[in-house]
Amino acid sequence: MKADKYCFDGSRPCELRRLPCDSREDGVDKAKIVEKTESNLQKMAALQDAFYADGREGLILILQALDAAGKDSTVKHVMGGLNPQGVQVTSFKQPNGEELSHDFLWRVNRALPPRGSIAIFNRSYYEDVLVVQVHDLQKTYRMAPRTVAGSKEEFFRKRYRQIRHYEEYLYENSYRVVKIFLHVSKEEQKKRFLERINDPEKNWKFSEADLKERARFEEYLDTYDEVITATASKHSPWYALPADQKWYTRYLVSEIVVDALEHCTHDYPAPDPAALDRLLDCKKALESE
Ligand code: AMP
Ligand code: MG
Repeated sequence: MKADKYCFDGSRPCELRRLPCDSREDGVDKAKIVEKTESNLQKMAALQDAFYADGREGLILILQALDAAGKDSTVKHVMGGLNPQGVQVTSFKQPNGEELSHDFLWRVNRALPPRGSIAIFNRSYYEDVLVVQVHDLQKTYRMAPRTVAGSKEEFFRKRYRQIRHYEEYLYENSYRVVKIFLHVSKEEQKKRFLERINDPEKNWKFSEADLKERARFEEYLDTYDEVITATASKHSPWYALPADQKWYTRYLVSEIVVDALEHCTHDYPAPDPAALDRLLDCKKALESE
C-alpha cells in the first residue's frame, strides 16, 4: 500500500525533515485518490462489522501531530464511516490534578476499548514524552526523588521503554496499536492558523498558546524523530504521513485502518451444529406463523 513508504516499524530511524508534507513525490491523481478513499471507507465499515462480531481482538488508533495538522478532521472524515457502536474516541488534554496524581498510563488504561471495538486516541500517552519533554514539565512532577533525580535524558529513555513494554503488553493481550503522526509543514500550519483567525466559525479552534508551540516547531520535530524511532515496532508501527493536503492524508489513513482491520481477527462467529439446528427450528416456527 502507498502508506508503507511512511511506515516505521523499528527497522530504520525516523527523520521527519526528509519526509514530504504533501503528495507531490508520490505523483498521484487527486480525483482517483478521492475515489479510492471512498471505496476504502466502505471496506472499513464491512471489516469493522466482522471485527465487532468476532470480538477477539481490539484496535487502538493513535493520532499525534502538531496543532492544525488535521487530527480532528481525520477523526470526522475517516472514522466517521465506522459504526459508532464499536468505536470510542478519547481526546487527551492537559492532565488534571487527579490524573497527575497517578502514573501516566492510568488514564490510558481507562480509555482502552473492549475487544471487538476500536479506540481512537486524539493525542495520547505520547504527549507524556512530547509536550512534557519539550517544556520540561517532568520538573513539576511530584514523584519520589529516585524517579526524577537522574538526567532528563534518562527520565525519557525510561519512558520510551515503558511505552514499548506497554504496547507489547497490549499486543500480547490481543490488542493492536497503530500510531499515526500527521506531518504538516510550518507554512501550511501558518495558513491554517490564519484561517482559524479570519473565519469566525473557526475562531474557537485557535488559542494564543498555539503560537507558543509553533515557536518550538523545530524542537518538536527533533523530539518526534526521537520518540518515533524509540517506540516503533513491528507489532505497533508508526506512520508519519504527509498532512498538507487533507484529501491525501485521509486516503493514507483509510488505507492504514483497512490494513489494520484486515490484520485483526474478523471472522463472523459460526454457530455450532446444535445452535444451527435451533436456528432452523426458529426459522420454521416463524415461517409457519
Ligand atoms: P488540543 O488537542 O488542541 O485540545 O489541546 C490539548 C492540549 O493538551 C495540547 O496542548 C497537549 O499538548 C496538552 N496535553 C495533552 N496531554 C498532555 C500531557 N500528558 N501533559 C501535558 N500536556 C498535555
Ligand atoms: Mg490545539
